[in-house]
Formats: sequence, structure tokens, C-alpha cells
Amino acid sequence: MTTTLPTNPQASVLPSLSLRRLRDMVVAGDPGCICDPELFTGPADIEPEDEPAGDRAARIAVAREVCASCPVRLACLAYTLRTRPAAGVWAGFTPEEIAALVAAANRPARPRRNSALRPASAEPARIAEVA
Ligand code: SF4
Repeated sequence: MTTTLPTNPQASVLPSLSLRRLRDMVVAGDPGCICDPELFTGPADIEPEDEPAGDRAARIAVAREVCASCPVRLACLAYTLRTRPAAGVWAGFTPEEIAALVAAANRPARPRRNSALRPASAEPARIAEVA
């Protein structure tokens, strides 16, 4: 019996899935990055540091556009946040952006201030509307 993988499950389910399952969901979604991997990783015939900055920026911008309309982007993002790739564009993010997302997610939450408990004098001054 074959199990059918949903390509668009609820986002809340994604973190609980195994990496293998996430990867299989991404591949089953036939994403654009499979057709044109060099758009996401850079030209195969040159070292990453040798790719001109302008070419790199343009390539990443186009890769982000492909990711923006990808039907399995959430599964890709869930996979990416756990694997933290060192190169390429994943779910529309560079490795540096992915690292920043992971760091922000792991940062302890600050307690919310309850404005109802603050004295009125603590409220910021309102800027008068100009008629
Ligand atoms: S979101 Fe981007 S990197 Fe991820 S599977 Fe889709 S096209 Fe590929």
C-alpha cells in the first residue's frame, strides 16, 4: 500500500514531521528548484566567491521569486530551518537569513507589557493631529 503525501498540509503539522518526510513532500511537489538548481546554488563551473556580486544578487532575486510561488514552500522552510544549509537559496532565504530566523526563534521571549497596568503618565505623548 502506498501512502500519499499531502503537498500542502497545515503549517502547524510541519515541525512534527521527520526530515525524510519533509524532503519527500518537497520533491513530490515538483518545485522549480529541481528544474534549475544552478539558479539556487550558483553556476556549477565557478567557485561561489568568484560569482560577481551583481550576478549573485540578480540570481538570488529570481530564485526568491520562484520560491514565492512554490506550492511546497512551507515544507521546504520547515526542512531548511532544521538542516540549516550553508549555501544556496532555500524557501526564499539565504543561509545567513535562515541562521537569523533560527536565532530569533531560539531567543527567549520577553514578557509582554500590559499597557492597562501602566500609569497614564507612562503613556507616550500623543502627537496632535494637524487639520
Ligand atoms: S521553496 Fe524554493 S527552494 Fe524550496 S522547494 Fe520550493 S522552489 Fe525549491
